[in-house]
Amino acid sequence: MALPNEKRAVKNETATSLVDLRIAALTRAGGTCEWAGCDVTDGVEVHYILPVADGGSDAPHNLRVLCAEHDRQVRELRGRRARFRSAR
Ligand SMILES: [Zn+2]
Repeated sequence: MALPNEKRAVKNETATSLVDLRIAALTRAGGTCEWAGCDVTDGVEVHYILPVADGGSDAPHNLRVLCAEHDRQVRELRGRRARFRSAR
């Protein structure tokens, strides 16, 4: 099933602004991991604090620049919360 052209255009616009948001987050962080006390600049990535799939937004406050180690720690915390939620 093909999407109407109008919807395709909106999709492209969203993708472009997501790239802009990532660049804005990296610029805000000065290319450094935003974990308190961490100053790693190598291999940092922009991550969602609350994933969009879980109702998170694309707002700058929902984005954090993290190094690989702190991304791993955040994922672990998130996994614990997810297990807690599903246990209720
Ligand atoms: Zn870090």
